[in-house]
Order: sequence, then structure tokens, then C-alpha cells
Amino acid sequence: METVKEVKKTQTMYDNVMLQFNRMAEYIDLNPNIREILSITNNEITVNFPVRMDDGRVKVFTGFRVQHNDSLGPYKGGLRYHPTVDIDDARALAIWMTWKTSLAGLPYGGAKGGIKIDPRNHSLGELERITRRFTYALGDNIGPEYDIPAPDVNTNEQTMAWIVDTYMSAKPAVVRSQNKHVVTGKPVGSGGLEGRDRATGFGVYLSIRFLIESRQETLKGKTFIVQGFGNVGYWASKFLEADGAKMIAVQDAHATIYNKSGINVEDLHEHCKPRKGSIEGFDADLEIDPQSFMGINCDILIPAALGNQITVDNAGLIQATIIAEGANGPTTEEAEVILLEKGITIIPDIFCNSGGVIGSYFEWLQNRSGEIWQLDEVMEKLEKKLFKVFKNLEKEVEENQIDWRTAAYKIAIKRIEKTYMERGVFP
Ligand code: NAD
Repeated sequence: METVKEVKKTQTMYDNVMLQFNRMAEYIDLNPNIREILSITNNEITVNFPVRMDDGRVKVFTGFRVQHNDSLGPYKGGLRYHPTVDIDDARALAIWMTWKTSLAGLPYGGAKGGIKIDPRNHSLGELERITRRFTYALGDNIGPEYDIPAPDVNTNEQTMAWIVDTYMSAKPAVVRSQNKHVVTGKPVGSGGLEGRDRATGFGVYLSIRFLIESRQETLKGKTFIVQGFGNVGYWASKFLEADGAKMIAVQDAHATIYNKSGINVEDLHEHCKPRKGSIEGFDADLEIDPQSFMGINCDILIPAALGNQITVDNAGLIQATIIAEGANGPTTEEAEVILLEKGITIIPDIFCNSGGVIGSYFEWLQNRSGEIWQLDEVMEKLEKKLFKVFKNLEKEVEENQIDWRTAAYKIAIKRIEKTYMERGVFP
């Protein structure tokens, strides 16, 4: 294991994902040829595309799609709209997707992408034109059996509806309906899955519940704090609250609120709806200094916003005993060393938030077979699948006395290694 000093150079999410990969490759003694293949992304697509703004001006936007590996199946991963989106971040997030889909036992590889924009600066009409033109620019670099995007930060089922409509419109009429599964996370009426909206948050909640139950405890009375109150943060909090846990602090991009007696999840959600998702203005008396968020005394910390949030600067302050990584890559390698030394259990992102991609897989299967599944059926299948992954992980952790991330990486990378060993490398 590397020491804090050795990993001090961590800068970007890409640095972080590669530090994790190289550490795990050493640990599992990964075949050097396969290590070489997995160390780099297969394809990196950058598109610059023009869009007419509401005032008549034309603006050129930059979008990315990075495809890391497809040894287990088509590329799969979200699209993010955020000012921080760049090729480096897309690369890191694509690599995490490869591990995530492998760990979950899905027939997918890993990809990620997005557009460098702040959606808050655009009208709905502009966002629609940006999304459609981005889809058109990507062309056949995505496809229902090739690379299947899904929602991520600042994208949602509406974004997916625009993408599927644009993609299908560019196909000959006779094959149009065979392309519905080019994206997942669509609205139910457009081929979406009942429950896909809550699948990631539900998975975050389940991963925490499974861990707590394995310790012969329950969620009742446990306190949690959540960073990011979007799709993942909201749904995870809602399920945790329904099981008797208490949300005592929330932080988003605009404000941080804290109430030792508890914050009602649905009240906060209702407040956010007309404010483009922001928690700002919920209750001025509850607002605290954003810097103090990570150090709040609680049982569970759920980062559900962006990457690199738990760093060497705040890891020492954390009082939670469980960190459930709803976000992708929220913990830097150097912070992880500190957290593990403190005895904190980290439920790693590639397991914790994998309910989303498992839900996406269900939607994809549904579209391919023409079936329509009911909500209770979806939730049941999701729980069953995640429990199986949890049990595999738990076994690795207990048998080898390793942390949960190491166990997760070991299972994920070994599955891909086995596939390469069976098939060899063409030609
Ligand atoms: P979202 O856009 O719905 O919500 C993002 C939230 O993060 C918002 O509340 C926003 O205010 C907050 N945020 C942004 N910047 C912040 C900052 N600097 N500090 C604090 N809060 C900040 O996005 P989402 O879909 O909920 O995704 C959240 C995370 O979960 C991302 O890391 C994403 O990659 C990951 N994830 C999402 C899904 C999914 O199905 N949506 C699946 C797996 C993983």
C-alpha cells in the first residue's frame, strides 16, 4: 500500500483513478499485458458543434465521449453537463464505469462524456438545441449495441428523451424503433424504466443498509449528512429516512444547512423544485459555513455531488463511521489512507452507486425484448442483484482482511482479466 507521502501528487480525478488502478494491479498481480490494455482508453471523441442561441447568435460548444474498454460488452456511462467537464475528467469517469459494470456482473464496458456548460445559464430551448446538436455531432460514435449514454450531473430524463429522438430521427424509418435503447434513463413514456429515476439513490441506501445489517444493527436512529441533493442525494436520503435514519445536514453547490434535530427530506425536496434544484433559502437559521460540513458529527456521510471532495484537507475532520460514495470518485487516494487509518468504512462508488447502471441495464433489456416491467418488480430485481454483489464483496473483505474498495477492484479487474485470458488479443 502506498503511504500518504507517496500519493501526495493526487491532483485530478484521472490521477486518482490511475493511482487506484495501479495500486490494485500490483495487489492482484494483474497480467502485465492486460494491465497495459486497461491503462489507456480505447477511444476519445471530442466534438465542437454550433448552436443557435435564443438571441440569434451562434455559439460553438465542446462535447466529449470517452470509451475506456468494451471487453465485457457495449460501452456504458453517463453524460454530464458541467463547467468542469473536460477530456481528463471524462477519461477518469469512463474508467470507473468499466470497473463498476464489471463488478456488477453486467455485459457492459465503460464510457463517460458530457458538455462543458453550466446549464443554469441556458433556457430550456437552448438546452434542447445543444443536446440535439451534440447527439448529431456524436453520430454513430454512440449506438444501442455500441455505446449507451445515461443521465449524470445536470442531465435527466428530458435530456435522454431529446437524445433518443434525435438519434432515431437520423435513422431510416424502418429501423428507427430498433434504436430506442441508444440511451437509458429515458422518461417512462419514451421507453424508460419504472423506477430508473430512483435506482441510483435506492442502491446507495441498500448498500448502507446491507452493511449495517451485516453488523447486526439497523438504520433506525442513525444520523446522516449528504453532499449533493440532486437525483442521487435526494433518493438515497428519502429511502434512508423511510427506514428511520435522520438527515441532519445537506450541502449543495449553493448552500450548506445543518439541524441536529433533523431535516425533513420531502420538505427540502419541495423547496428545491422551483429553484433549479438548489437548497438555498430553505431556512436561513440553519445555514452554516460550508467548510464545517465534512466535520459534522454523524454516523453516515454520503458524498453525492462531484469527485475529489474528500481530500487530505478535510479527511481528518470526518466523524462519520461509514462513508457511502454516491458520487463517482469523491475520495482521493491520499484521503483514503487517512480514513482507513481512522477505522472508517468506505462503501466504494463502484458498488455504492451501481444501482443506477443496473437499472439502466434493466431498461436496455426491456427495450430489446419489448417488455414492460412494473415498479415493484424492478425494485425487487435491483435489490436482489445488489445483495448478490454485496455478498461477494463481503466475502472478499472478510477472507482477505482488506478494505471494501480493494475488494471491489479485485473482483472487477479479475473478471476482465479472465475474459482477456480466454479470448486472447486479436490478431
Ligand atoms: P444532479 O445534477 O442531480 O445533482 C448534483 C448535486 O450536486 C446538486 O445538488 C448540486 O448542487 C450538487 N453540487 C454540485 N457541485 C457541488 C459542490 N461543489 N459542492 C456541493 N454540492 C455540489 O446529479 P446526480 O445525478 O445526483 O449525480 C451526483 C453524483 O452521483 C455524480 O458524481 C454522478 O456521477 C454520480 N452518479 C449518478 C448517477 C445517476 O444515475 N444519476 C449514477 C451513478 C453515479
